Parts: sequence; structure tokens; C-alpha cells
Amino acid sequence: MKDTTYSTGILQYIPFLYVIWADDLLSASEIAVVMRAIKEDSLTKEEKSQIENWLNTKKPPADETIKYWKTLIDKSHIKLVESDSYPLSAFSQKFANELTRDTVPELNSHLQSIEINLGIQPNHYHHLFDVEIIQEKSSNLYDAQKIDELLKGENAGIINQFRAYLNHPVFKWEIVRNKDEFRNKVLGQVKYLAENGYGALAYPPQYGGTGNMVLYGNIFENLIYVDGSLAVKFGVQFGLFGGSVYNLGTQIHHDKYLADTGKANLLGCFAMTETKHGSNVRGIKTTATYIKETDHIIIDTPGTNDNKEYIGNALHSSIATVFAQLIVNGKNEGVHAILVPLRDEKHNLLPGITIEDNGYKLGLNGVDNGKIWFKNVSVPRENLLNKFGSIDNQGNYQSSIKSPNRRFFTMLGTLVGGRICVAKGALSGAKMSLAIAVKYALNRRQFNNDEKMQEELIMDYPTHQLRLIVPLAQSYVYHFALEDMLKQYANANEEERRKIETQAAALKACITWFANNTIQQCREACGGKGYLLENRIADLKNDIDIFTTFEGDNTVLLQLAAKGILTDFKKEFNNDNIGDTLKFISTQVTDTLITFNPLFTNKYDKEHLFDHNFHQEAFQYHTRRLTFSAAMRLRGFIKKGLPPSHSFLKVQTHLVALGKAYATQLSYELFNKHIQNIPDENLKSLFSKTGTLYALNSLYDNAAWYLEHGYISANKSKAIRQRIERLCTELRPHVNVLIDGFGIPEQCLTSPIYKNDRQLS
Ligand SMILES: Cc1cc2nc3c(=O)[nH]c(=O)nc-3n(C[C@H](O)[C@H](O)[C@H](O)COP(=O)(O)OP(=O)(O)OC[C@H]3O[C@@H](n4cnc5c(N)ncnc54)[C@H](O)[C@@H]3O)c2cc1C
Repeated sequence: MKDTTYSTGILQYIPFLYVIWADDLLSASEIAVVMRAIKEDSLTKEEKSQIENWLNTKKPPADETIKYWKTLIDKSHIKLVESDSYPLSAFSQKFANELTRDTVPELNSHLQSIEINLGIQPNHYHHLFDVEIIQEKSSNLYDAQKIDELLKGENAGIINQFRAYLNHPVFKWEIVRNKDEFRNKVLGQVKYLAENGYGALAYPPQYGGTGNMVLYGNIFENLIYVDGSLAVKFGVQFGLFGGSVYNLGTQIHHDKYLADTGKANLLGCFAMTETKHGSNVRGIKTTATYIKETDHIIIDTPGTNDNKEYIGNALHSSIATVFAQLIVNGKNEGVHAILVPLRDEKHNLLPGITIEDNGYKLGLNGVDNGKIWFKNVSVPRENLLNKFGSIDNQGNYQSSIKSPNRRFFTMLGTLVGGRICVAKGALSGAKMSLAIAVKYALNRRQFNNDEKMQEELIMDYPTHQLRLIVPLAQSYVYHFALEDMLKQYANANEEERRKIETQAAALKACITWFANNTIQQCREACGGKGYLLENRIADLKNDIDIFTTFEGDNTVLLQLAAKGILTDFKKEFNNDNIGDTLKFISTQVTDTLITFNPLFTNKYDKEHLFDHNFHQEAFQYHTRRLTFSAAMRLRGFIKKGLPPSHSFLKVQTHLVALGKAYATQLSYELFNKHIQNIPDENLKSLFSKTGTLYALNSLYDNAAWYLEHGYISANKSKAIRQRIERLCTELRPHVNVLIDGFGIPEQCLTSPIYKNDRQLS
């Protein structure tokens, strides 16, 4: 076929122009890049002027012109070869040759440079052309193993061993619906882990451990891949029970209990929540009354509904850490933890103890949750876990922390590691669901247009990309954020732990919510297959659900985080001087609050939107502004004479918004801190892209707020939305690698819809 309308020079640009205009692919700033390439090309003056006219964003080519280009492309019968190094440039060369019967001897370097500099990839435009070969499922630009190594960090060696160890038949996943059978299976798994030294990991070496809390967290998050019940039972036995002995007890308790706990010879539970008091731990009613005459403590459940409830491991345990109001010499010294034996060697309940099964639950049916009542149960004085408060030989209460309030928060603060692990576990649930949904989407085809033989891969639908690639990018951000948080916690002193408590509260809330939303998206992304138990997402959905509630209800935690932010981590929130604290905040924050750069409001070129400094500044502004306005509102109420507790209720939703904004900012900061140190430039640029997607998506989620405050313009908000979709298509070729980079052990991915991929690829 010969077309005489355009010269060879112009014809080479037609496929590019068609892609640019048919799909609105490029932004104004990117079109400027194309203009520059044309200027440098050896085209005639007339040719340049013609192409430049077609690139005028104010006066785009007429629809008829674009249609005419499409007719030329169709008539040429040239096919796009996606595996070419420069697919669009190669297509253009063949297209120009075909239409002119001339020979364009080599690829046009200016077209190549446009292709490279703008990162235009076949998946952005292949739907516009006839494609020569079936599209490659994934690029091999990045190495999944290297990504996995980065994620594992310094514990990589032991994590690898552990993942291999999970190949043992005891960990084989199967559908067990009968709770008693399921519980026995999980108990066997926990014991097997303990026998092999995994239970005691976080304890000091003299008790069989390594003193490595981060490694404990890594083991916990990997156990989710085996089964949610196993991870939670493991967490209750070694983290909650063992952790309470280790963190709240002293050497006498460590020597007596830790080694046996780590080996699961002694099974224990963590009894804090009561039927009437869950989030409000300080309001619990169980009493622990010291009796001088006998040198014993009497544990008692005063009312029928003051029993402990939902207590994990309650049916299998022989001992419990019981949280109760400690009363010494008639004075309530506040909530303390006391070790209370529950059963004898034959597993019979001890006198005064009543335990009932909580029965079947939405998920986690392999965990034995139960209710516990105590009727005047007597335990020796030494059973008080006395790191922060003790009863001396004369029967008097002693504590180096004078304020009961501070003492209470210090005690709970030592248990924050568990909260970080809960977020890590939820994130594993999201990762595993994403692995299943993405692999499925890389095989599943639905619908085709008339011209194509093969139906489209569902992964190539923009809606699917938005649903799966955004959470994929977010998962990487949260992974590094939590890893950093757990490291900080493991090395922190008491003062630092207070700050970490605020941070962990915010992250736990946002990440467990994120995980639940992601799992639901993944379920839907797999259609009917996602609903089948064999494909595992259903169990993940039911098991991870409660992660939003236990280890602190998310809404309550966000308020805790906001109060921590309000005091700028310097002062205790619940003190009498809240007025002073608020005054301090209002002066400190005002200075920096109004300093946002108005020039940024309407800036929406790619460089700016991809700039991590812009993202960070926007997140900080959000947190700062919410902190300031909350403080101002609170101060106003307090000035009017409202009591602080009532004033806080008035701004409760504001505080929750502040907690969320803070979690977004913190996750991104911790993630960036980490990726800056990645030595491999290739991977660094990949993570920089996932980070940008996280950041732009978070900004867009809060676009209404940013628009209300004039921080971004309507045009900028629109540009952010477009960039998110674009980034998804840019990351599309790398989804397979990003999923494999999670390092989920192959033997745990038992879903038939995941394994299909293995068979086909
Ligand atoms: C499967 C499972 C396992 C568990 N394991 C254990 C365990 O081993 N040991 C243990 O001690 N506990 C355990 N728990 C208990 C768990 O920690 C509590 O359920 C949790 O702390 C919430 O308490 P609650 O259920 O009483 O809810 P509530 O505190 O009554 O909360 C109910 C609702 O009220 C809202 N709410 C409460 N207070 C406020 C407020 N101030 N402002 C705004 N909204 C508020 C919450 O957001 C929530 O939506 C477990 C629970 C379950 C379900």
C-alpha cells in the first residue's frame, strides 16, 4: 500500500502521534519532551512545523485527523512486536517503510529517545494496534529474589531456614471446620514450633532464645501464610503470655517460667479483657487483694459479667497472666498483672476457677478463646509481675513510678511489640491475598473486542490495575515502615517507647484496616473463585477481620495516637495541665503551619508530582494543620470551662482524622528512610515508583481535605488522579515480580488459582 499524503519523515511520527492523542497518554510537560526531540531530528522545516502543529495542546488535531491515522495504521497491517527493545519505534519504522515503499534503514534515534524518556511501555498502547505475539506476562527487569532479600533484611538467613522448615507435613493446609479438631491441629503445630526453638526467639539466650524481637516478628508474619489460627495461637502463647512474663515480671519470674513457656511445656494465656470492659482496660473489675496475714493475693471476679472474655489459649492453658485492680492495705494501686495457675497436671481446673468456651467464631476457629471467672483464688505474693510495682516483705506497695497513670501506660507500653506484630500479621494477609489475586489476573481472560482473537487478561483492565497495583505498592511501604518500627521498639528505652506507642497505635489501626480492605478487593478480583475456601482468601478475610479489634480497637487506638501527637510526645496527656499543653502546641505549631508554598498549589508537572519532598511536605502539612486546629478547638472548650474529657469528646472525629493523617505521614517517612539506603539503583527506582504511587494515592484519598484548605487546586487534584492510573500501567509489567518479591513460601500458596499460574508459565 502506498500513501502519498505524508512524507516518510512525518509517517514515522504518526504511530506516536496516534498513541499520544487517541489515549490522552501524555501530559503537557511530556509533550514538551516530544517537541524537543522533533527539534533535534533531521526533518525538513515544513515537516517539523506540521508535527509541532499536531502537538499543540491548545489546539489538538481534529478527530477526523486522528481517525485517518488509525485508518493508515490498520491498512498497513503492521503488527506490534512487544518483545522488541523499542516496540513503538520499531513499529513506526516498519509502518513508514510499508506506506512509502521506501526503506528507512535504521530506527530513528529521536523516536527511541522519546520512548525511553517518557517511559512509554507497550501496555500503555498495545490495545491500539494489532499485536504480533501474546503479551509477556511479566518483565524480567527486576529480580524477585533480590526484592525478597531486601524485605527480609538482616534476618534473611534464619527466615530462609524457617520458610524451608514450613515445608514439614505438620504445616500442610487443609480445610478443618470442626473447632476441636482444628484446635488440636494448631496446638500440635505450636508445640512443634516450640520444640524447634521458634517459640523462645524473643527471650534472652539463657531461656532458650536469641533476644531478637524483630526475628520473632518475622516468624509471626510468615506463620500467617500457613494459617491465621496458628499465627494467633503462637502469638498468644509466646508473645502475649510469655511477653507479659518477660516484660512485666522480674528475674524470679523469668527463671521460673520463661524456658518452659518457650518450649510450650507450660501453656499460658493473657487475661486482660472482661465482658464489660474491653477497650477501657483501666475500668476492669477483677480484683487482686493482698492479704498480709497469709502473704497471698486473692483474685476475684466481682460480678457475673466481670469475667475475662475472648481469652486465647484459655482451653489449653495451665496458667494465666491476669490483669486486675491491685489492692494493698485497702488502697487501689491500679491495674497490675498477676500469674494465676488455672489447671493441675491432669488438666483439671483448680478450685475457684471457671472456664467456658467462647464457641465458634467468624474466623480463627483453630484458637481456643474462652471466658474465665475467679472465685477467691489465692496465689503467693511473688506471683505479682512486679517490674513496675511490687509488694515488699512488710506488705507495703512500692513503685519507682509515682503517678498511677504513668505507671499504667508504662506497663502497657512494654507490650507494644505485640501490637506491631499484629499489624505485620495483617499485612501478610494482604500480601497473600494479593499474590493469589494477581496471579489469577495474569491468567484469567474475559472479553475481547471484535478484532482480537484472544480475550483480554483481566490484569490489563485499568480497573483491575487500580484495585490491585495500588495496594501492592502500599504493601511495600507498610512492610518497610513496620520493620523499622519493630526495630526501634526492640532497641528503645522507656522514654522512647512512649513515643513508639503513639506511632504503633496509628500504624496498627491504619494497616489492619488497609489489610481488610485489600483482602476484600482481592476476593472480588478473583470473582467466584475468590469465594471458594480452597483458594484461601475466604479464610484470610475471616481471620484478619479481628485484627482491627484485638491488641486495641482501631478507633480507640487512633485517639490514643492523636493524644500522643498533641502532647508532642513530651508530656503525659492525662495530666491536670492540659491547658498548658495545648498552649504549648498552639505556639509551637503556628510558626510552621502557614509556611506551605502557594506556588505548589497549581503545580502539576510530572517532576513535581513525583517529588518525594512534595509528598512529604503535603503529609506533614496535613498532620500539622489537624494538630493545630484540634489544639485550638480544645483550648476554646477548656477556656469555656468544659472539663478536658468532655472537650475531647467534642473533637473526637477530628482526633481520629489526625491519627490517620499521622499514620500516612509516618509510613511514608519510614519507607523513604529505608529505600534511600538501597544500594541497587535499579531496585531503588522501582521502590521509588511504588512509594510515589502510595503517596499520590494517599493524597488523592484526602483530596477533599487538601482542596478545602487550598493546598491543591482542582487541576492538581485531577492531575494526581491521572498520575495514579498512569503509574499503575507503568508498574503493570512488574506485578509478577513484585508479588514474587514478597517471598511467600511456595508450599503455602496452595490455592488452585495461584498454582494454575505455575503450570502455565
Ligand atoms: C478472637 C479474639 C481474641 C482475643 N484475644 C484476647 C486475649 O487473648 N486476651 C485479651 O485480654 N483479650 C482478647 N481479646 C479481646 C480484645 O482485645 C477486645 O475485644 C478489644 O480490646 C475490644 O474490646 P471490646 O470487645 O470490649 O469492644 P469495646 O471496647 O466495647 O468496643 C466496641 C465498639 O465501641 C467503640 N468504642 C469503644 N470505646 C470507644 C471510645 N472511647 N471512642 C469511640 N469509640 C469507642 C469501638 O471502636 C468498637 O467499635 C480477643 C478478642 C477476640 C474477638
